[in-house]
Amino acid sequence: VPISRAQTSPDYSSDVKFCKVEAIIRPWRVPHVSSGLLKMGIRGVTVSDVKGFGAQGGSTERHGGSEFSEDKFVTKVKMEIVVSKDQVDAVIDKIIEEARTGEIGDGKIFVIPVSDIIRVRTGERGDKAERMTGGRADMISSASSN
Ligand code: ATP
Ligand code: GLN
Repeated sequence: VPISRAQTSPDYSSDVKFCKVEAIIRPWRVPHVSSGLLKMGIRGVTVSDVKGFGAQGGSTERHGGSEFSEDKFVTKVKMEIVVSKDQVDAVIDKIIEEARTGEIGDGKIFVIPVSDIIRVRTGERGDKAERMTGGRADMISSASSN
């Protein structure tokens, strides 16, 4: 029996208002990316040290010997940025602009639908929890009202 395959991929995130942009990038590019994001009003970012393999595999990292560990995995940094859907493309473009060297090992970006956001301090949910004071939405609305 042949395996049946969907001809088109479903729009998994059609009913969702927020996405998590998850970028696996070179550790030494993280300062460039985070300052670029801050300048565009992205103020909420989570960063983790991770290891993995991709096309770069276990080949030696060109930039800084300490990036390469004893095992087959290459040390990377994962940046997770939850934003409203309308800000996803701007975040992706900024990450590429700041993280790209053009060499194998620049990394990968995943976009993941997020069902809800809750601010622990206030209990706010959804748009209210996603918005940050002085964040990108505030920057854009104050620029257009001037
Ligand atoms: P508060 O207004 O109560 O300070 P906040 O929205 O500024 O709330 P924090 O409590 O400062 O949120 O956030 C705690 C941590 O959550 C941050 O250090 C960061 O790691 C993560 N974080 C917050 N917002 C986001 C986001 N939009 N995307 C990814 N990570 C986030
Ligand atoms: N979208 C939020 C805002 O415009 C910012 C989200 C974030 O910083 N991750 O305020």
